[in-house]
Amino acid sequence: LTRLYGPLTALGNVHIDVLTALVSFDRVFEVLDLEPMIEEKPDARPLPAGPLRVDFDRVRFHYPGADQVSLASLESAARPDRAAAPGGPGTPDVLTDISFTAEPGQLVALVGPSGAGKTTITHLVSRLYDVTDGAVRVGGADIRDTTLQSLHDAVGVVSQDTHLFHDTIRANLAYARPGADDAELESAMRAARLGELLDALPEGLDTVVGERGYRLSGGEKQRLAIARVLLRAPAVVVLDEATAHLDSESESAIQQALATALRGRTAIVIAHRLSTIREADQILVVDGGRIVQRGRHDELVARGGLYADLYRTQFAEQEDAGPDPADQDPA
Ligand code: ADP
Ligand code: MG
Repeated sequence: LTRLYGPLTALGNVHIDVLTALVSFDRVFEVLDLEPMIEEKPDARPLPAGPLRVDFDRVRFHYPGADQVSLASLESAARPDRAAAPGGPGTPDVLTDISFTAEPGQLVALVGPSGAGKTTITHLVSRLYDVTDGAVRVGGADIRDTTLQSLHDAVGVVSQDTHLFHDTIRANLAYARPGADDAELESAMRAARLGELLDALPEGLDTVVGERGYRLSGGEKQRLAIARVLLRAPAVVVLDEATAHLDSESESAIQQALATALRGRTAIVIAHRLSTIREADQILVVDGGRIVQRGRHDELVARGGLYADLYRTQFAEQEDAGPDPADQDPA
């Protein structure tokens, strides 16, 4: 579904009264139809099972929406007699020359100011969009050549806001691994540090959750997302760490659940926690759509520059907030 939001979001930026003055809605949708969708090639091959490396190879990217659904293209749709001006206003590149490798089992942390392009990088790993130039490879295969199903199975995504269906806990977990039995669901919940919740639920796995059901806290929702990852067991995990302030108990439970979920997988994490960036095998500092610095935490702090600045303004304060949950014994 997210794929459909791309062009609509782009349209949302345009004043609709200006639009209606220019074109009929039929014409708008004709323009929207031009939007290239993610397609599977007829000779697409499945990704192999097992550990997978992720490579970004000189990736350049701009969002397709604003380029194709620009006011200029709508205007030319309204007046088909007029050819669209060549080289009309395109969208700026959001990513430029992004290259890195996340080896199997490695944790790669993306840090950088808001708007730098971190979320966009994670979108490209799961092929929500195709790159404009360069390539994204998973397990050595260009993801434009692999089947969508195998890519979906290989790459697990944990986003900041976890979507729960108004349904039972069982249903909310089981779609991550259809056919899983209760013992598997319960053990995934316990591994995701949801054991206490499970024991407290009035009807166990049959408890209905959501707005009109049993309300889960923000921290519990995130751990449910982590339980889904554990059930799916993808080779690659893409994670946008929550920025929301959680109580320290949830905080440490999530940290422990994540450590379990990421172990042995290739992880690409938009990091907001000091404990994550300290643990990262590789930190990529993204600014203005480029990787401006890379290395491990200590190297980067010592080197000075954007990372050292970000560390002082965003992360260092977490040191004063008490012992780092990741440093505590998870037992
Ligand atoms: P970050 O996650 O580092 O804050 P993003 O990847 O979300 O950065 O955004 C990078 C740039 O891409 C920003 O300039 C943002 O406005 C733009 N952008 C993000 N999503 C879209 C979209 N769907 N369509 C067009 N531009 C987008
Ligand atoms: Mg973001």
